[in-house]
Amino acid sequence: MIKNRKHFQYAFALLTFFALSNNWISLLTLLVIATILGIVFGKVFCKWMCPMGLIKEFLSKNQSEEALKMNMYNYYKVGCPISWIQGLTNKFSLFKIKFNKDNCVNCGICDTTCYITSFSTEHSLYKENSLNPGEAFNCSKCLKCVDVCPQNSLSFTLKR
Ligand code: SF4
Ligand code: SF4
Repeated sequence: MIKNRKHFQYAFALLTFFALSNNWISLLTLLVIATILGIVFGKVFCKWMCPMGLIKEFLSKNQSEEALKMNMYNYYKVGCPISWIQGLTNKFSLFKIKFNKDNCVNCGICDTTCYITSFSTEHSLYKENSLNPGEAFNCSKCLKCVDVCPQNSLSFTLKR
């Protein structure tokens, strides 16, 4: 599913665009839907559903990896009301990025891939006594961390 994020993004972003432009739903309804989704999954709107996010990704596809990471790291400072509300839900959403230290080999690939841990040293996906980037306001649930871990030590699952 993570590898297919782009396909989901195209489908959901187009659906959101047509739903809004044809007045099938209002902006307020979208805000309510996004809040409910945020409570369940966290801040998934920007990277999985947003028409503007899709355009933004398309326009920035030639940027360097570092520039893309910095853009995403700073995006929460502008964003939109949906991203602000969903950002708050990252702390208590039902689905979380979980770390299983039993098979972690401390390679650090997850931290170099994530735009939060790349620029914020108090966050780490695997180091002890660090803040969990998945609960940070600007985690967009891109799930790259889960995707790159060679040991499957990271997962996006329902918290228990
Ligand atoms: S999903 Fe993972 S890689 Fe993406 S921003 Fe959140 S913690 Fe970082
Ligand atoms: S990528 Fe996986 S194995 Fe490597 S440090 Fe992160 S959690 Fe551990």
